[in-house]
Parts: sequence; structure tokens; C-alpha cells
Amino acid sequence: MMYQKGRAWIELDLAHLKHNMEQFCSLLPPDCALMPAVKANAYGHGAVLVSKALQEHGVQNFCVASAAEGVELRRGGVTGEILVLSYTHPGQFDDLIEYRLAQTVVDGDYARQMQRDGRRFTVHVGIDTGMHRLGERWENVEEIVKIFQAPNLTVTGLYSHLCVSDGRNAAERAYTLEQIHHFEYVVEELHRRGYSGFKCHLQGSYGILNYSGLCFDYARAGIALYGILSGKNDKVDASVDLRPVLSLKARVESVKTLYQGESAGYGMAYSAKKDQKIGVLSIGYADGVPRSLSNQGWVLCNGKAAPIIGRICMDQMMVDFSEVSQVEAGDEAVLIGKSGNLEIRAEDMAQWAGTISNEILSRMGGRLERLVKE
Ligand SMILES: *Cc1c(COP(=O)(O)O)cnc(C)c1O
Repeated sequence: MMYQKGRAWIELDLAHLKHNMEQFCSLLPPDCALMPAVKANAYGHGAVLVSKALQEHGVQNFCVASAAEGVELRRGGVTGEILVLSYTHPGQFDDLIEYRLAQTVVDGDYARQMQRDGRRFTVHVGIDTGMHRLGERWENVEEIVKIFQAPNLTVTGLYSHLCVSDGRNAAERAYTLEQIHHFEYVVEELHRRGYSGFKCHLQGSYGILNYSGLCFDYARAGIALYGILSGKNDKVDASVDLRPVLSLKARVESVKTLYQGESAGYGMAYSAKKDQKIGVLSIGYADGVPRSLSNQGWVLCNGKAAPIIGRICMDQMMVDFSEVSQVEAGDEAVLIGKSGNLEIRAEDMAQWAGTISNEILSRMGGRLERLVKE
């Protein structure tokens, strides 16, 4: 077997994943099932690994962003329903059939395109209730009904997406309530016309955490299932105990002295004001450490914090080890996770980089090993 933890890696705490899943299940109405969002390699965590762990705990529905992600799950042994949330090109329709993937109908035109293909597809109909991204407009009930009537489309689900459910001011709440009402209106109109048996879903993580009283068939939990929120300062209505699943670590490649007046790395972006101990880590932006962390943010090593210095390189980065007394080449550096009493969360890294934790995690690169914490 390949030597593990050689260069840069992710450690997954699957007990935390299970814990977060249970937190969601106790928050949601009993007949609402979790439909985890495992797109973008399960937000960097490893799609097959995470999905199979969830499957062992009884999860039977998953959503991904692309047909290829669905294929990866099937090949990895994931059963149950897999919904493709975004567009699939007709050239990839073979995969929908061969791997039994449910496809989102992104609008009425797309439904006609699928119908013309001649084969039979399982679909969830996307409804635009106010985000104006994907979905047939909620007002166009006749158009939505036509999708249900298309002989080649088996509609097993109907869904929409909330665009400001993370916001808790009056205008944001009012907008979300409007979206909810639009969605409920479409469901009622379909029932009134005799269509039933399809599953309804509306909430992502913040929809669950801020509107937990809603009663739909599925809830598409993403970021919070991985134990973190999008922004460091985000507040939510529900009181839940979410625990981070992912830690990001790398090796200290080299420890050395940067002498006063010398610069470190590309662009001479950092220079030493005094002689100082620095370290080189074997991880860079190709692994998902944002280049915007140049001279910005911290890593942890042996229970101490070390500031990032100079520009992040493609495969390496440098840190100031002045305050880390015990450190040598081969030690582990923690970029996300705990070391001693200190912790860096994905939300922290996101804040330093001026983004949200979703982006940080989903960009974790293919070069990282993904290991389950024992
Ligand atoms: C990504 C996504 C989700 C999950 O969102 P989180 O905020 O990460 O929970 C749910 N629904 C749709 C349509 C998505 O694209």
C-alpha cells in the first residue's frame, strides 16, 4: 500500500458526520428524509466515501451537480436515488439511463428536449420561485403541467431553491416566505389537477436551520452536514451542535532561518525584519489553499499558531515559526482542524480569504489524500 500522510491530506471524522446527520434528523419533521448534497466531491470531503458512510446510516437519497458525479457514486457502490441538480447535455443522456440518475428539468424547453430524445427519463422538476437561476417559473402552472404530461418523463420529484434563507432580517425573511408560498402554490395546483406521488423539497442547509418547521419530503443538506456554516459570523435560528468533519494537514518539509532583510518566495512579497525561523509546507493553491492567503492567516503546528508568510505557491507555502519552539522537518502542520488547544475552522480560512467555507472546501484538490480518522 502507498505510504499515507506523505505530503498533504484530509482527515475525515465520520463520527462527526453521523452526529451532524442526527442533529438534522431531530430538527426536521419525522417524515422528512435527508437528501445530502454530495456535489463537488462532497464539498471536498470525498463523494463516495461520504455517501457510503451516510448510506450505512440509512440515507437513501443524494444530490450531485453533474451526471459525471452521479456516475462516480454509482461506480463506487452508492444505491438509492441520485438527483442531478443542474444541466445535463443531451450528449450525456446515456449516463442518466445507464446509471439510473434522476435529472432536473431545468425549464419547459429542456423538458421538450428530453421528451424528443425518445427514451424514458426519471426527473425532478425544478421550479423557479424567486432565485431566477434554474427551474420553470412558478407562475407558469400550465407549462409545469405539460412537463408532468410528457409521456417519456417519469416525474418523481418537484423542487425549488431558496436564495436568501441564510439572511434573517425582515426583508430577507419576507422574500423567503414568498418563495415558500410560491412553491406551495405549485404543489397545490398540481394536486388539484390530480398529480400526486412526487416528492417535494425546498430547503438547503440554511433553509433547514432557519425554517425547520417546514414539512416537505426531503431536505437537501449540504454545507452544515459537514459541520460548518458558510460564514464565520453567520447565526441561525435552530440550536444545533454541528461538528466539523474535515481536517486539512500537510508536512513541514523544511525548517530554516530567514535572515534580516531577506525575502521569502515569489515576488519577494515577504521580508524578514529580523532573523527568524521559517518553515516550508508541502501544500499549495493546487491543493486548494487560496492564493489570497498570501501574507494572510495562520496554520497550527504542535499546538502553536504560525502566520502564513509570502505568497502561496502552487505546491508549497511558507510560515513563520518564530513562536513554535519545537518543530522540525517531517512534523504535521494543520491548516484546518485542531492542534493542542487551538483550532482553525474552515470558516476562519474562508474569512481570511474573503470567501465562504463552501468555496474553500469544494476546491480541495484531487492531489490530497482523503483518510478516515481512526
Ligand atoms: C448546493 C445545493 C444545496 C445544498 O446547499 P447548502 O447550502 O450547502 O446546504 C441544495 N440545493 C441545491 C439546488 C444546491 O445547488
